Amino acid sequence: AVKTAGKGTYRYFEPALYQRRLAKLRREAELRHAIGHEQLVLHYQPRVNAATGEMTSMEALVRWLHPVHGLLSPGEFIPLAEENGSIVALGGQVIEMACARLALWKKQGLAVVPVSVNVSACQICTGDVSRLLAAALQRHGLDAGLIEVEITESATMGEGSTALAALADIQALGIDLYVDDFGTGYSCLAELKRLRMDGLKIDRAFTSRLLNGPDDRALFTAIVSIARTFGMRIVAEGVETAEQLQALQHYACDEVQGYYISRPLPAEQAGALLGRKSLFVEHA
Ligand code: C2E
Ligand code: MG
Ligand code: MG
Ligand code: MG
Repeated sequence: AVKTAGKGTYRYFEPALYQRRLAKLRREAELRHAIGHEQLVLHYQPRVNAATGEMTSMEALVRWLHPVHGLLSPGEFIPLAEENGSIVALGGQVIEMACARLALWKKQGLAVVPVSVNVSACQICTGDVSRLLAAALQRHGLDAGLIEVEITESATMGEGSTALAALADIQALGIDLYVDDFGTGYSCLAELKRLRMDGLKIDRAFTSRLLNGPDDRALFTAIVSIARTFGMRIVAEGVETAEQLQALQHYACDEVQGYYISRPLPAEQAGALLGRKSLFVEHA
């Protein structure tokens, strides 16, 4: 009891800033440890054909199974990992886990769909993501078509030739690239042409505003038509209601993803959805 009181008193006099720095250092050390010790897990969220509900892909979304704090969502540790560079190791592990899971699903005789992995700007700039991807695919005996890569707009905008070359290297493997969260950053439609991405994931902010009124609808239509002109696949994120899905079908989105179709699921549950004709039937 004396010790606790003493500790408490000591803390009371610590400047708040110092406390925060300590907490951050601790979290950083924990994260570095987590990467090497199987505390990271992937959940998978289906992406489906907007017209039929057939699964076209699954997005791998990382979680940290923290020994004390439980399951942490990426928003709670990805920014830190990006800041201190451990995102490179973390991202490497995500690629490895996604490929290992695909190989397992194949071994189980399941009708696999491509898994889409999120890649940070820092990873792109190291320049060897494509080698990492190629090695993981080969190690697990997978076709390059079974992996897709999502990169946020801000990660690609205004990047120099290194980033562009890295993106081209990934595509050269036969891996499709998607712009993630389109519309949240400094959207520049001309940039889409320069980057030659295969698909566009329209941020859920647009999906939720779609039913608001004519201005939002016009914006959405414009994005879709330009992406279409560039030959990109169009995916709407964050579909939460039947009304939103209907609107998206009307606006000719190719694919949709969101809680209305399925939440991100642990690998076992996600695997159980493989081979289904449609993920829409549940709501029918
Ligand atoms: P994101 O790539 O845009 O992924 C979609 C996020 O939206 C996920 O959050 C997903 O759970 C959530 N979401 C899906 N459908 C709905 C919906 O209908 N409504 C709402 N409100 N949300 C929905 P999550 O899993 O928390 O991931 C957040 C972000 O963290 C991701 O956004 C991505 O940018 C990043 N992230 C996740 N995994 C990785 C990773 O392995 N590497 C990197 N670099 N970033 C990752
Ligand atoms: Mg994503
Ligand atoms: Mg996304
Ligand atoms: Mg997104």
